[in-house]
Amino acid sequence: MKSSASKIDPSANQDHHLLREAEQRLDEVQRLSRLFPDLPVEALIKEDLLRVGISFSREALRYCANFKSKSYFIFSFDMVPIDQMDQQENLRAPEEMQLFDGPWNLRRTTVSVRVNPTSVWNAAIEGESLVLRCGGETISRIDLQEIPDYYQKNLTSGQPVHEVAPTIEWGYLVYLTVYRKCQYFGFKEECHFCDINENYRQQVSAGRPYRTVKPQEDVLEALAIIDDVDDNSKAYTLTGGSIIRNLRGQGEAEFYASYARAIEERFSGRWIPKAVTQALPVAEQKILKDAGIRIYHPNYEIWDERLFPIICPGKEAYVGRSEWHRRIVAAADVFGPENVIPNFVAGIEMSHPHGYTDPEQAVASTREGLDFFMSQGVCPRFTVWCPEPLSPMVKDLGEMQPPAPLEYHARLLVAWRDCHREHRLPVPPGYGPPGVGQAIFSVSSFMDVIDLPLANGS
Ligand code: SF4
Repeated sequence: MKSSASKIDPSANQDHHLLREAEQRLDEVQRLSRLFPDLPVEALIKEDLLRVGISFSREALRYCANFKSKSYFIFSFDMVPIDQMDQQENLRAPEEMQLFDGPWNLRRTTVSVRVNPTSVWNAAIEGESLVLRCGGETISRIDLQEIPDYYQKNLTSGQPVHEVAPTIEWGYLVYLTVYRKCQYFGFKEECHFCDINENYRQQVSAGRPYRTVKPQEDVLEALAIIDDVDDNSKAYTLTGGSIIRNLRGQGEAEFYASYARAIEERFSGRWIPKAVTQALPVAEQKILKDAGIRIYHPNYEIWDERLFPIICPGKEAYVGRSEWHRRIVAAADVFGPENVIPNFVAGIEMSHPHGYTDPEQAVASTREGLDFFMSQGVCPRFTVWCPEPLSPMVKDLGEMQPPAPLEYHARLLVAWRDCHREHRLPVPPGYGPPGVGQAIFSVSSFMDVIDLPLANGS
């Protein structure tokens, strides 16, 4: 018979496990800082928070509930579904946080919040302050964004402004997901990392006032309210899922262009207009351009030739990888090369079971794509992949994916920065200021690693 002293206390065991994991996380940040000494440590922490998410203590969440909260502006960007959020993080977690100061003396770094109740990165209260901790170690202080005035207002339809026109990037970007679903449907069409359709379902059943299509009059009314009370927002993005047949009688270009036209007629010059769509034929790109769109995001998601059809089966079936790339390059003549900024999902090329297992090889593949586009003046940017449980690659395959290793993200930042430098490209427009301590783009660190202009002008 075992003595009581030998009994294992499961919570102590779990604490021990978490502390060990936290130590490993910090060791890895420090190892990569030594390996890439010219990469800001802030960017490494930011990428790690984006790839593994953050947990909240009960007191921290109570504190956060008084600030601007997650709007679920398109995808969930969480690592657990809402029904597994025991603290109702979906209603109380902040949209973004700014890390600064603290024992690691961080320069101000803006990070999007991805909820993961088991993450070793933890927001906690120390004294009167909200701080970022990893295991037992305090890393930095955290600032949150005040609730903007316009978030407190409703439209005449009864919809809250923050549902119709939420802002991200610390208030810089008005995010207009005017179509909340995607017509790529199911495992054979949806991009395997994307939970747009499932997130729609979970948000509606959790009571969020999501509508499939946002009425134009609501969008205009929300923008008028923002315009009235706010100076911080500088750009808007029109976005949503792909339209492969038509939506309410309109094809994809005309559907999104109709919003841009209405916005530009009423608020010409107030915001930088941007649109995310499929890579459209040139004639349809021109519809967007003529409607006023200045920056075009025909997102290619993943460069790798072998993996693209596996990860993006709908894009492969309806357009095809080579044609997608041809249309991106052709868009340079329509919008100007610096205004064509396709996104890819950083890390997805290491997803199981088909992806790379070696971060260096994964980044080498992705770097080919960076060179291909950047040599033609088009500057891709990326968002950090966090495995979402409702995305096809998790839900349909029935197994949670680990995120790509931090080393992959460190190597990618170096590759992107060096490629951007080598091709002497301008700072991508429409993302706010570049540089560590300045950048506000919150879903990856590509803006944080762009060199700051020298203060003496030399
Ligand atoms: S095109 Fe792919 S990434 Fe975009 S919304 Fe549809 S499934 Fe998601």
